[in-house]
Amino acid sequence: MTNLSPSDKALVPFVSVDNMMKLVHHIGLEPMLKGLADYIEADFKRWELFDKTPRVASHSAEGVIELMPTSDGEVYGFKYVNGHPKNMKEGLQTVTAFGLLADVGNGYPVLLSEMTVLTALRTAATSAMVAKHLAPKGATTMAMIGNGAQSEFQSLAMKAICGVDTVRLYDIDPAATEKAARNLEGWGMKVVACKSAEESMEGAGIITTCTADKQYATILTDNMIGAGVHINAIGGDCPGKTELHKDILTRSDVFVEYPPQTRIEGEIQQMPEDFAVTEMWEVINGTAEGRTNERQITLFDSVGFAIEDFSALRFVRDRIQGTELFMDLDLLADPDDPRDLFGMVQRAAV
Ligand code: NAD
Repeated sequence: MTNLSPSDKALVPFVSVDNMMKLVHHIGLEPMLKGLADYIEADFKRWELFDKTPRVASHSAEGVIELMPTSDGEVYGFKYVNGHPKNMKEGLQTVTAFGLLADVGNGYPVLLSEMTVLTALRTAATSAMVAKHLAPKGATTMAMIGNGAQSEFQSLAMKAICGVDTVRLYDIDPAATEKAARNLEGWGMKVVACKSAEESMEGAGIITTCTADKQYATILTDNMIGAGVHINAIGGDCPGKTELHKDILTRSDVFVEYPPQTRIEGEIQQMPEDFAVTEMWEVINGTAEGRTNERQITLFDSVGFAIEDFSALRFVRDRIQGTELFMDLDLLADPDDPRDLFGMVQRAAV
């Protein structure tokens, strides 16, 4: 296995699903979630220097396929990701993804990686990094509504980064709750399987909604939400797909990643264009207020933004250095004489 040195620039390091899983075990899941949260927080701190655009989405009746690009001026990155709620019933993932980093100086890719596992990790790390800033002090119980692919990652990130020690699970499908409860055994959290969303919220300072349904769903209604909680709303992340009744939004202080994207995709698509939101990077930098009192309802209207994927890819690129956890891909045609691409093809004749 080679190092990621400039002399190898024509070969692109590739992290497969198998190697991503090995990397998780090599680092440890909770240290990796913490490491990702640190990288994401560091990039939120330098938010203003990034190229930013709402993701480029191709919608269909069944779901969405999206490209999420960004650049910090030295490195460019993008993620390809889909969201197809119906996939689960067909034995397929709702969300799959891969991503790339490239050197802005010469445009050559420097990393290609699976991002289905990495997206679950980065989404969980982002949720917990945000909750660290907004959740009520001393919140140790989280309601986890929607017990699908993201749910265990969400729970363990809240444990690793915010000190949550109890997770109360609810899903309309009891088999999903059983799966999540089984997977969370042995991770040092108290896990309670609940029969309704209301039951899951008993004593919870943090409420995470992470369901998948391509409709204006009301997983939470206003009367279910008591004063002082932090809502981490993950599942409403595309036009026509929301989880919260809009009355909750009017009672909450709403925090977002990148407003031009969140206004199209997030819970706030239900609200007027000028609905007030706070950008999370400003809270992290201390230029905007986060939680100011115990009775305030804080709501992270998460849709997933390109900079979080960029941070996650940066983390992976740094952490595979000196390991065997990538392979070199012959992805770029790179003739010795840059102008002789044709000659290179001709010489390849058998
Ligand atoms: P998944 O299909 O694996 O799981 C979704 C779960 O929600 C299923 O178990 C389903 O039974 C449950 N569910 C559906 N309707 C429900 C309801 N009314 N009440 C309770 N449970 C209900 O999906 P996933 O990969 O876990 O993703 C969940 C959602 O999160 C998707 O909508 C996805 O697009 C979104 N997501 C957002 C981000 C982000 O950055 N914000 C990142 C990844 C995924």
